[in-house]
Amino acid sequence: MTYDLIVIGSGPGGYSAAVRAGQYGLKTAIIEKDSRLGGTCLLVGCIPTKALLHAADMWDFATHSAEQGITIDKPVLNYPKVIERKNGIVSKHSKGVEFLMKKNKVEWIKGFGTIKGPGKVEVQTDKGTQLLETKNILIATGSEARMLPGLTPDADRILTNIEILNLQAVPKSLMIIGAGAVGVEFASMFNRFGTDVSIFEALPRIVPVEDEEVSKELERLFKKDKIRVETGAKCDQVQKTATGVKMKVTLANGKVEDVEAEKLLVAVGRAPMTAKIGLENTKIRSERGFIFVDEYQQTDEPGIYAIGDVVAGTPQLAHVATRQGMIAVAKMTGKPTTPIKRNRIPGATYTDPGIGSVGLTEAQAKAAGYKVKVGKFPFLANSKATILGSHDGFVKIVADEKYGEILGVHIIGPEAFELISEAVTAMESEATVESMMATIHAHPTIYEAVGEAFQNVYGLAINI
Ligand SMILES: Cc1cc2nc3c(=O)[nH]c(=O)nc-3n(C[C@H](O)[C@H](O)[C@H](O)COP(=O)(O)OP(=O)(O)OC[C@H]3O[C@@H](n4cnc5c(N)ncnc54)[C@H](O)[C@@H]3O)c2cc1C
Repeated sequence: MTYDLIVIGSGPGGYSAAVRAGQYGLKTAIIEKDSRLGGTCLLVGCIPTKALLHAADMWDFATHSAEQGITIDKPVLNYPKVIERKNGIVSKHSKGVEFLMKKNKVEWIKGFGTIKGPGKVEVQTDKGTQLLETKNILIATGSEARMLPGLTPDADRILTNIEILNLQAVPKSLMIIGAGAVGVEFASMFNRFGTDVSIFEALPRIVPVEDEEVSKELERLFKKDKIRVETGAKCDQVQKTATGVKMKVTLANGKVEDVEAEKLLVAVGRAPMTAKIGLENTKIRSERGFIFVDEYQQTDEPGIYAIGDVVAGTPQLAHVATRQGMIAVAKMTGKPTTPIKRNRIPGATYTDPGIGSVGLTEAQAKAAGYKVKVGKFPFLANSKATILGSHDGFVKIVADEKYGEILGVHIIGPEAFELISEAVTAMESEATVESMMATIHAHPTIYEAVGEAFQNVYGLAINI
């Protein structure tokens, strides 16, 4: 039997592409090595973390509600129940992906896929090995947590995103190596659950891909919440002890310190899962496992496409994987499509407060030669933020002085990960600072802070 498309990997990239292929009437199969569909994002990434972060928000409310005139007598954190709820959300949505495969007539093949050459995929299943033929192959095999050299994760003390999601009790203390999105989200979550959290980052600032002012604000707020933040810090000599884990940290000032905690989370980035998928049987170009593609996700081997976390040069985000899947399937079926615009990819980080960003940071815009104008507005001056009791953070607009082009928008504050959508839509539809200044924002909303930040590109915000 010959397929039109075989997708390898059922993360947000692979399963969405399979659905789209089904919608276009392609005879499609999806190969997944795990027993459940959904990939990193659904099973051990975006969804379970956000479920636990929501529980942290609820716990925060339960323990601080007296400030709002609501007294909750001795709230109790039933953490196993929190984990059970998170597992329920994951299972429900994984079943949802199964349903989508059936609805769109996508065949789910359970096993490990290896490319044997153009148009040929071998699957190792429980029942043996099968060789499948197909017109197109889509590599969507995603990524896995990187480890520090010599370290192996275990279920108890040295953890990656997988193990930490299944702890049955809130740890007393937690060290985190790496302050990218994954590291800071777990820091924010466990800090609110009552863990003593320290976070160590080798680079000079936390959330290093964000605008510098956003990094500074998050660090300030983390420290206010008693999270220990060490940037420019190098960690080594990690060892398990009788009660936890210890390691040596060389701090930014050169001082070497022994640090110890009950658990260690290693969040130092994600490596592409391409080692055993048969790239050597193709003309595909790759570097350190990352696959090179053109703007339509085509690899150097005709008929083989790659999307998501395995792709070189695009951020490892679920919505990027999904969009790349749409582009790849459109391309292989001759449908019109537009490549991803690198500066219009939103990022969403669910710390407390959250971060939402899109486009160039102020430093990147200046380095690119723009004459930059910045408009900022603090949530302190936004009435809805006062109502929510969430005053920290700001909206920052990075614009080009010449034509009022919006180059980037950076938000740290309440619901920042939702607010950023307005900026993405504005940039995608080529709105200018002027047209955003004329856009009416309903009152009282936190969106008004976005409108005010646009006004403030010209020093015209009303409420500060
Ligand atoms: C803790 C954490 C939180 C995150 N939170 C967010 C977030 O809030 N928002 C966001 O946008 N992104 C988030 N991400 C990133 C996001 O999860 C990834 O960018 C996304 O999952 C990538 O999708 P993908 O389709 O490329 O691959 P994946 O989701 O990694 O899926 C790949 C699938 O391929 C399967 N596979 C691999 N090799 C084979 C093979 N040879 N044969 C068969 N199957 C195979 C794997 O088992 C897996 O199911 C988070 C990541 C982590 C770790």
